[in-house]
Order: sequence, then C-alpha cells, then structure tokens
Amino acid sequence: MNQHQKGEGGYRPFDVDSVKGYLASNPAVAERLGGGAEAMQAREVGDGNLNLVFIIEGPKGSVVVKQALPYVRLVGDSWPLPLKRAFFEWNALTRQAAILPDRVPSLYHFDETNALVVMEYLSPHIILRKELIAGKRFEHLAEHAGTFLAETLFRTSDLHMDTAQKKADVALFADNVALCAITENLVFTEPYFDAELNRWTTPELDGPALALRGDRAVKIAAQEMLHLFTAKTEALLHGDLHTGSIMVTETDSRVIDPEFAFYGPMGFDIGALLANLFLAYFSQDGHGQQPGARDEYGEWLLETTEKVWRVFAARFSKLWTEERTGILFPRSMFEDQGDHVGAAVALERFLDGVFTDTTGFAGAKMIRRLVGLAHVEDMESIEDPATRAGCEARALQMGCELLVNRGRFSDISALTNLARAIRRERTQP
Ligand code: ADP
Ligand code: MG
Repeated sequence: MNQHQKGEGGYRPFDVDSVKGYLASNPAVAERLGGGAEAMQAREVGDGNLNLVFIIEGPKGSVVVKQALPYVRLVGDSWPLPLKRAFFEWNALTRQAAILPDRVPSLYHFDETNALVVMEYLSPHIILRKELIAGKRFEHLAEHAGTFLAETLFRTSDLHMDTAQKKADVALFADNVALCAITENLVFTEPYFDAELNRWTTPELDGPALALRGDRAVKIAAQEMLHLFTAKTEALLHGDLHTGSIMVTETDSRVIDPEFAFYGPMGFDIGALLANLFLAYFSQDGHGQQPGARDEYGEWLLETTEKVWRVFAARFSKLWTEERTGILFPRSMFEDQGDHVGAAVALERFLDGVFTDTTGFAGAKMIRRLVGLAHVEDMESIEDPATRAGCEARALQMGCELLVNRGRFSDISALTNLARAIRRERTQP
C-alpha cells in the first residue's frame, strides 16, 4: 500500500494482499493463523452494503477482518459514512459476547485507526436469509434468536444494568448518529414521500406503493414509531437484526454485524427479525417449482416466527424474576413486601408494551424493504415481475396492518394468523 493511499489519521483500506502483511505484524493473530504473510490465503467476500470483509486462512487457523470504508459501498464515495461505525460495532460485539459468547463470533482484535475488527471466521455457517430462500429448516434457530433477544435486551436495560453504567453507555452509543440517521430516513420517512432512492417493482406495484403517500394513518403511525426509535433509550439494540445478520448451521446460530447499535426500544430488534421472517413467508409463492410447493415451508416459517417471540418472552420473564437488579421495578417495592402478584402483573404489562412496539416496528421494517432503497433477496430473487409483485403486495398489506393496528393484536398467533389470512385471501383467484 503506497503512502499516498493512506487516509486521514493513518487509516488505509486494505486489499487481499496488504491485509496479510497487516495480520502478520500482529503477533497474537499471526500465531492463530500459524504463519507469515506468505503462508496466508486471503479473499474479500463482503456481500453487504457497507464494508470490506476479508477471510484470511493460514496453515493453522483462520480469521475474518471486517473493515469500514469511508463511504457506503452500495452507493459509492458520493455517500460518505463515518469510519467510527467500526468502533460501535466492536463495542456492541464485546457487550453481546459478555452476555452470550456462543451467539456471536469470537473477537480477536480491534484497530480503531483502521476501523477494523478481527474476529472468528464462521464456517461452515451460511447467512440465514440465503438458507431460507433455499427452503432449509433450522430446528434451533428460534431458541437461539429468542434467547439472544431476551438476554441482550434485558441485561442492557434499566431492569438489570447499573444505572451509571447504562447512562455512560447510552452516551457512548448516542454518537452513532450517521447509522441511526440511515434508519431514521430509510425506514420511517422516505417510503412515505417521493424520495429519490425509493424503488419498487414497477409498474406492477405502483398502486399500493404510491398509495402509502396518501395514507394518513400509515404515515402518522410510521412517524410515531420513529418517535419511539429516537426517544426510548430502553436497551442496547443490535440495530439491524434481519435474516442477513444471522449466520447458521444445523446446530448453531451467530449474530453478526451490529454496526447500527444504539440504545433504543426493545421492540425494534425483535420487530426487525419478525419482519424479515414475514417477508420470507410472503416470498414463498415465488419460490418452488409448483404452486403450493412451499406451503409447508411457509408454515414452518410462521411457527418459527411465533417461537422466536415465545422463547423471548419466556426467557425475559425468567430474567425478570431472577435478575431484576436495576432501578426499574425494584424488588423492594414488590417481592420484598411479599407482592409477587404485583411483580407478575408489572411483567405482563411490560411484555405487552414490548409486543406492541415489536408489532409496529415489524410493520415499518416490512414496508421499507418493499418500497424503499434496500430490498430483500427473498423477494428480489423472484424473477417473474407479476409473481414478485403479488408477493410484495401481500407483504405490504401485512406491513401496513401491523404498523397501524399495533396494540390491537392479542398475541403473536394473531400476527401469524393475519399473515395466513392475507395470503389465503389474496392468492385465491
Ligand atoms: P456489512 O455490514 O457490510 O453488511 P456484514 O457484517 O454483514 O457486512 O458482512 C458481510 C458478509 O461477510 C456477510 O454476509 C457474511 O457473508 C460475511 N461475513 C461477515 N462476518 C463473517 C464472519 N465472522 N464469518 C464468516 N463470514 C462473515
Ligand atoms: Mg452492516
């Protein structure tokens, strides 16, 4: 790498050659790989929208290097994005690893100057979204995801975390302004006006896509969810927990890519995952050889969606009972006075609130993946535009109903039943 390619403050983006020399000069990482630069194989695999991702294999072991670029990779250098997102990703990863080390990659090194993280190469793990498109089932996924959500959200909230520590952490992550702005604009705002980067399957989806702009109930609900997103510093969020941020094998699941991390409402992370499972569900009519070929698989997706919530709620309830050491709902007011019923009622009300938020965020997240800038491969991989638009129109209806009617659904099975009903109603001739 030439001197003139060095950026501000010593930052330089690596390539498949320079990254080897860089790792060789780090004794701990070189030891893990088991050889000098000449013994390493490196390739760049970043299929994401924002960063460089290198896999480096040595005679003894392997690592992944994820390096931020000073711009959005998907769009190019016309859209600058701060390198500091690597710092937020590292800080989120270390907190998640302290809570649930088995559900994130092992962490080896952080280099703030070069905006990069060195971590475990997850192998033979595959991105969950790709596996869902392929129609594969994962028996442990819901258990893993629901547990990850409950543990990370509970333990970083005022129900558990020391309040001084939490306030310091809220301040630290409040600086993740640029990535929050992406969410604020792309999720809650741009889908609802004539924003330049919006796109959808045109002309087939023009009707429902354009109708959003005149749908007052939807627009107000979207902004109410944005208000929650900006104002409710409830827990440390992953911030982008879709099915492209989970890597799986038949027995393992790992959550990657928390660069959007910040303190926000619990329902945002849960809603993100539910939204992407519902998008996968509505995409089923575009996959498989024969009509109905993926019906059973769609049912598995809905069962998994339900189970994610149920595992989350059960684990959260256990934590509420056993680990409620923060300033919120102190035991001194409830259990210590013998008021176990009070603690249980408070828990139920708390979970109801999280469920309402989850429902609204799930709706907003679905809509933006259908008519905003960033779409999902589940839908994009459906080649026939009419078929794709049909799937998308049903998903869009679901998204709008979740968003506007959040708070009116009794429980998680009401959401999955709505998905079934929309699909049934709108696929029959
Ligand atoms: P971005 O933030 O740019 O979207 P991601 O963190 O999602 O980047 O990583 C992009 C891709 O790189 C992932 O989809 C995955 O295929 C691969 N990847 C990232 N981290 C790892 C890892 N620890 N092990 C194996 N593959 C990884
Ligand atoms: Mg990312």
